[in-house]
Amino acid sequence: MIIAKDKVAGIHYTLRDSKGNVLDTSEGSDPLYYLHGANNLIPGMEEGLEGHCTGEHFQIDVSPEKGYGVSDPALLEEVPRKAFGGQEIEVGMQFETNEGQVITVTKVDPDFVTVDANHPLADQNLFFDVEIMEVREATEDELAHGHVHGHGGDH
Ligand code: ZN
Repeated sequence: MIIAKDKVAGIHYTLRDSKGNVLDTSEGSDPLYYLHGANNLIPGMEEGLEGHCTGEHFQIDVSPEKGYGVSDPALLEEVPRKAFGGQEIEVGMQFETNEGQVITVTKVDPDFVTVDANHPLADQNLFFDVEIMEVREATEDELAHGHVHGHGGDH
């Protein structure tokens, strides 16, 4: 069975940046299962996986436009230093907002801290090494919910 809309695929992947650093991998854990055509993955991954079948092992290169986006200067914000309490703040630190968004500290001034709410992988070319472990039909429930059930998927 090939990967197409409304199929569920289980893939192993290793994500590297343009310097070859491993950013993320499924190695050592279960494959990542996703519902194809439901925006579960970034667009570049869905395009790269479409039409492939179980057992194939290949690389998918994803541009920022088809990955985590091009950074938007409007998402940089100055926050009063006191909002962080007495905590030591350094450039590169990441925090999760109440909405679950990851923000990264890009500048520290005596009174203000500049945080960037762009995705940490914005502007990056991404190199995925993927191996397709399984392709199956999605169940009616999965199609209705727009995501995979079981295999670590939520409900
Ligand atoms: Zn569900």
